[in-house]
Amino acid sequence: MAPRTYRICTLPGDGIGPEIIAEAKKVLAAVGARHDVEFVCTDQLIGGAAIDATTEAGGPVSALPDTTLEAARASDAVLLAAVGGPKWTNTNAGAIRPEQGLLAIRKELGLYLNLRPVRMFRALVGASSLKPELLEGVDLLIVRELTGGLYFGAHEREWGVEGAGGNGARGEFARDTMEYSEYEVERVVRWACQAASRRRGRVCSVDKANVLETSRMWREVAHAVGAEFPEVTIEDMYVDNASMQLVANPAQFDVLVTENTFGDILSDEASMLTGSLGMLASASLGDGVALYEPSHGSAPDIAGRGIANPIAQVLSVELMLRYSLGMDEAADELSAAVTRVLDEGWRTVDIADELTAADRVLGTSAMGDKIV
Ligand code: ATP
Ligand code: MG
Repeated sequence: MAPRTYRICTLPGDGIGPEIIAEAKKVLAAVGARHDVEFVCTDQLIGGAAIDATTEAGGPVSALPDTTLEAARASDAVLLAAVGGPKWTNTNAGAIRPEQGLLAIRKELGLYLNLRPVRMFRALVGASSLKPELLEGVDLLIVRELTGGLYFGAHEREWGVEGAGGNGARGEFARDTMEYSEYEVERVVRWACQAASRRRGRVCSVDKANVLETSRMWREVAHAVGAEFPEVTIEDMYVDNASMQLVANPAQFDVLVTENTFGDILSDEASMLTGSLGMLASASLGDGVALYEPSHGSAPDIAGRGIANPIAQVLSVELMLRYSLGMDEAADELSAAVTRVLDEGWRTVDIADELTAADRVLGTSAMGDKIV
């Protein structure tokens, strides 16, 4: 029987992007060989690389060419490295910027939730500012709503009206409106419950229902959706408490689901728990093709030197296997491989410390080989 084929749209982008995505492809090939699956990876242009190529071709200049978007839509998943760098940000104000390519592809693919897993690698406990005993067992998944909330409500300024604080002052007032539809809450909470049922069965829904009307609706909807999942327990937590709990007792969380703004802040907070940017992956999902990427940027300062840490990119492959391709077993194996490589003491420079033996510090490609 011919192996099952998956088409992966690979977007190397800028900076260290091409170096780390090469390692992701190596890993995919190894996963494919173990599971009798063929991954057909096709590189497409995005970001600064796309700006340069379209400029050279005589325009129109674009950070997301149509050919890239079409290839992304026709794929089973999109694997992105990173975009951006000083070459394109130091140009004149009206110029197209690499980041526009990223915003455009997220919008075009209709991605409405963002995933940020935070998992403790025992070998790297020393890199965190938290006490080692607090990090024991940390393995949480932040699910952030992406299309609603404050960022997409009305943003207004007015002159001469009285502020809501009722202090009688006159002058300029600004207002940002938080809006949510039942539907937007339902789909993200349903996704979180499904994910939890494949994990440890616990969802923490984070809101500010003591103050916000959107949060009160969020809470009602969350419980209605949660009732569809008897194997999942759903609890509520106020966002102020959640931000404390994340550093006081992060191991208590399994899946944490929240609205756009709260999720923006909590996922950055959570990303610091384990102490290394080079280790964190993220995913953006919708109803169609999803996008997987490392949480870090294009690291132009170390680009082309062969020293970038490919692990965040490799862990984005783990997410892709799990959430787009239904290959949970392969995803577990990949995560175990990364854990083992770290346990054996192998490091890239960014995660090496004074205890790391000099002969255990690997370049990008050698780290990819170890994981394979
Ligand atoms: P963004 O591009 O998302 O705005 P940024 O510019 O703040 O992010 P990065 O490009 O992620 O940040 O780089 C921040 C620092 O972390 C840099 O010094 C960079 O070299 C380092 N860094 C980022 N990713 C990696 C990696 N995979 N391996 C090693 N170092 C990294
Ligand atoms: Mg950057």
